[in-house]
Amino acid sequence: MEKTNTQILKEKLFRPKKNGWESKNIDKNKIMTFAKDYIDFINKAKTERECVQEFTKILKENGFKNLQSEQNLKAGDKVYYINRYKNIYAAVIGSDDLTKGFNIVGAHIDSPRLDLKPNPLYESAELAMFKTHYYGGIKKYQWVNIPLSMHGIIMTKDNKKIEINIGEQEDEPIFTIADLLPHLSSQQNKKKLDEAIGGEDLNILVGSIPYETDEEISEKVKLNILNLLNQKYGIVERDFVSSEIEFVPALKAKSLGFDQSLVAGYGQDDRVCAYTSLKALLNVNNPKRTAICLLADKEEIGSMGNTGMSSRSFEYFLEQILDKTIGNKPGLLDEIFQSTRVLSADVTGGYNPNYPSTYEKNNESYIGHGISVIKYTGSASKGGASDANAEFVGYIRNLFETNNIAYQNSEMGKIGIGGGGTIAYILADKGVDVIDCGVPVISMHSPYEITSKFDIYNAYKAYEVFYQDE
Ligand code: MN
Ligand code: MN
Repeated sequence: MEKTNTQILKEKLFRPKKNGWESKNIDKNKIMTFAKDYIDFINKAKTERECVQEFTKILKENGFKNLQSEQNLKAGDKVYYINRYKNIYAAVIGSDDLTKGFNIVGAHIDSPRLDLKPNPLYESAELAMFKTHYYGGIKKYQWVNIPLSMHGIIMTKDNKKIEINIGEQEDEPIFTIADLLPHLSSQQNKKKLDEAIGGEDLNILVGSIPYETDEEISEKVKLNILNLLNQKYGIVERDFVSSEIEFVPALKAKSLGFDQSLVAGYGQDDRVCAYTSLKALLNVNNPKRTAICLLADKEEIGSMGNTGMSSRSFEYFLEQILDKTIGNKPGLLDEIFQSTRVLSADVTGGYNPNYPSTYEKNNESYIGHGISVIKYTGSASKGGASDANAEFVGYIRNLFETNNIAYQNSEMGKIGIGGGGTIAYILADKGVDVIDCGVPVISMHSPYEITSKFDIYNAYKAYEVFYQDE
């Protein structure tokens, strides 16, 4: 049937909201293959340190060199810089005058988790336990009675670095936090959800056999655990004070759904944007503008610290690049920032059909509708938001539309119901143009976050065209 004039007018004027899987020109095989590699990656890299290790390997395999070992850089050169094992930057040098600005995609590689306290090990009721301090915004009740694995490093008194990774392999033990049985939970059940499990209740069970001796001594189970750790790693109790041990879900990331369209897995905030932005950079060869991927730590606790976005280590990296290309001088980097474009590649909340009253349905991110472009984050009054200029939003939508990138524009939830932040405002402080742009996630910050393979692939493509735009 012929379309009526009114139908034609509507098609011309309305913005279509389209499920990405229904798009004409998508290659499902490519999407599925990309997602498979991504799933392998998030199963291997469950902490910021492990991300840096995996990314360094990938960068080296793709011709990136350590910035510190290079004296001079020229157009087309590929370099990376690692900041204290937890934060990494990579760049492909452009052929244009560097003072015309950089194209930067910035994501973060830390995720919510349970850290050990400085004095973690104790014994109670002949069980050995670890005290934890949670990192990032978690719903604490989600972290009990799930398998946990132990990752991180311990520095000994004589400065030896012990790397720990227990609970990911089939033949390794896991750990868990024991919740109260329902039979005895009548009082706990009356508490508010965020009070039912407190921060001090997140104690991890780590053993139960007493040290074998005829002597009458106390804390034999704790002694036995310390003895095992001493035999395996050479550590003593005091060594925990100089450790960074993170407990994360020992769950394997997998395809989700009969149609395998989704990914369920831990740490997708924000490793889904970190992985896609780094993979996209690998496709950038001889760009005009210098393309940079920045992967920050500490975003989940406010971006402070020397590996967080607020540290000057990123400027140091850029100044090193200037030193080794056109020569740095005072004020030059500030000048370059004025014409630098940044995508703050962080996830946003995807519409969850279990909680319709939470959302304002015209302005949410929908799973499978492509990458989300978020003009501003913040809370009720837009407080704390870096609100991108319309001119820059216009540039981004034009870029995405020209390159057939599926994108959506959204807020996160109804006004006043909550809020969130990203590294965008810290980059905006430097004087760059910046906008949030990432993959929508359902059940964000939970031990098992959900994303769409279509959105993941679109993020990868979106970052690639952004890096390469002149
Ligand atoms: Mn994030
Ligand atoms: Mn987060």
